[in-house]
Amino acid sequence: MDCIFCKIIAGKIPCDKVYENDEVIAFLDIAPISRGHALVAPKRHFQDLAVTPAETVSAMMRVLQLIAPAVLRVTHAPAFNVGINNGAAAGQVVPHTHFHLIPRTDGDGLKSWPHQRYGPGEGAALAKDIAAAVS
Ligand code: 5GP
Ligand code: ZN
Repeated sequence: MDCIFCKIIAGKIPCDKVYENDEVIAFLDIAPISRGHALVAPKRHFQDLAVTPAETVSAMMRVLQLIAPAVLRVTHAPAFNVGINNGAAAGQVVPHTHFHLIPRTDGDGLKSWPHQRYGPGEGAALAKDIAAAVS
C-alpha cells in the first residue's frame, strides 16, 4: 500500500519513534509545529477518524495520554494541543488516521483559530438539525 505511515509502521521508512504497542505507534512529526510534536497512529490502516473503529480510537487515545506527560517533561512544555485533521479540506495530508500532540508554551506565537458568532436563533436551529441527524 502506498501509505507513508504504513511504510513507517512496516519499518520501510525510518522514524523517530517514542512509543509503540501491538496496536499503536507514536513518533515525532518530521516537520514539527513545536519541539516534541508527535503523531499517534494505529498500526492498521484507516483513512481517517470517521472510519476508524471506536476501539482503535480508544487505543490511540490511551497512547496519547501515556506519552503526553513524557513529551511535556522532556520538552519542558506546560501544555499541549491535540489535533486531528480529518479530510483534505481540513488539512489532512496523510490519509492514515492520526492524532497530533503539539506541546505548547506561553508566548509560543502559535495562534488559535478565529471565532465567529451565530445570528439570533441560528445556533439553536443548527443544533436541532444536527441532533436530528445523529444516528
Ligand atoms: P496531516 O496534515 O495529515 O494531519 O499530518 C501529517 C503529518 O505527517 C504532517 O505534520 C507531516 O509533517 C508529517 N509527516 C509527513 N511525512 C512524514 C514522514 O515521512 N515522517 C514523519 N515522521 N512525519 C511525516
Ligand atoms: Zn496507512
